[in-house]
Amino acid sequence: MSKVIIIGAGGVANVVAKKCAQNDSVFTEVLIATRTVAKADKIVAEIKEHMPDSKAVFTTATVDADNVPELVKLIQDFGPKMVINVALPYQDLTIMDACLETGVHYLDTANYEPKDVAKFEYSWQWAYQDRFKEKGLMALLGCGFDPGATQAFTAHHAKHHFSEIHYLDIVDCNNGNHGKAFATNFNPEINIREITANGRYWENGQWVETQPLEISQDIYYPKVATRKSYVLYHEELESLVKHFPTIKRARFWMTFGEAYIKHLNVLEGIGMTSIEPIDFRGMKVAPIEFLKAVLPAPESLAAGYSGQTCIGVQAKGIGKDGQPKVHFVYNVKDHADCYREVQAQGVSYTTGVPAMIGAMLMLNGDWMQPGVWNVEQLDPDPFFDAMNKWGLPISELADIELVKD
Ligand code: NDP
Repeated sequence: MSKVIIIGAGGVANVVAKKCAQNDSVFTEVLIATRTVAKADKIVAEIKEHMPDSKAVFTTATVDADNVPELVKLIQDFGPKMVINVALPYQDLTIMDACLETGVHYLDTANYEPKDVAKFEYSWQWAYQDRFKEKGLMALLGCGFDPGATQAFTAHHAKHHFSEIHYLDIVDCNNGNHGKAFATNFNPEINIREITANGRYWENGQWVETQPLEISQDIYYPKVATRKSYVLYHEELESLVKHFPTIKRARFWMTFGEAYIKHLNVLEGIGMTSIEPIDFRGMKVAPIEFLKAVLPAPESLAAGYSGQTCIGVQAKGIGKDGQPKVHFVYNVKDHADCYREVQAQGVSYTTGVPAMIGAMLMLNGDWMQPGVWNVEQLDPDPFFDAMNKWGLPISELADIELVKD
């Protein structure tokens, strides 16, 4: 039915491509375009090997997604209906510009971040609203798991359980073990920038800033474990408090093991997480980029990864019946199952599946509408059906408060 371009060929792109191969009645022709084309070729070779029955036709190409004219040529030559951007947040705006110029729809999984400032916010991408609307094009922002599914979970709370949401807690537990002393589960540069930044949460109409990893509590993750979890800033908080103005407090919690934090503290202490370039043998090198080159590639963690992820959203407020209510919506995913299915670890899987689903819901018309959208603005019902069908079944837990005040 539809031609799409996937940009990027990392851990998440691998999952998006393989889920598109499974969903071949929607995704008939897929071009994977990236900087290092050998990585895209590897994904296509694995699709041929592991999914010989897929009717989707895959090709690959090299592209520098920082370069708008190159992107425009790529899109014009292939003629897709949409671009699924799973490169890095740095490329969001150039890819959006190219989509506008060529008249194709856009989806990504992380909001724009300038390379030289450790700061991310939606303002840059929300500024494209009028241009996408005028051209009759849709841009869907942040359609991975968090951001992404967590916003659909919030929309589900609002549609089916609450008349007013007052307290929102997004919880993200990776209880997996990859056997390495230190590694990040997605792009190390983006991951470390996120964790070493100050924490921030929303309370009574304003942002409250914390030191990095200053606030923590033990949270029980159903079917998985009780794990120490830390408040950090996450991008979906910005759009959720905008679109659900009844929210009095919104926080994002993530688990980190002691060994992970110890390594991170040392790396930070010696300057290895800095984004400021230093002179090294006549070259300018940002220490964090060098660190990225030293650390294991996220996709290389997949074989032998054990344990599960559990990501969910707890809402507290006034139920549809006018009574106080607490409710939790979540997904549990097993790393080894992900590897068996698409040769990926759970963090790439839980990001890539919602990206494929978002693209499908745009292409089949369920979500398609001109403008720039965050996931919570769209109907969560078809998204829930698709999550249950495509490998990320959703569970709910009523009347138990997992995250305390
Ligand atoms: P990886 O680092 O594994 O992959 C990124 C890919 O993008 C690589 O193939 C890389 O090429 C390619 N790329 C980078 N720069 C360019 C460029 N200028 N032109 C073309 N290609 C480029 O990252 P992940 O797959 O782990 O993550 C992908 C995206 O998903 C990121 O934006 C990340 O923030 C987001 N994410 C979102 C989550 C969510 O739940 N919403 C969770 C996890 C990740 P090369 O191989 O040459 O380096």
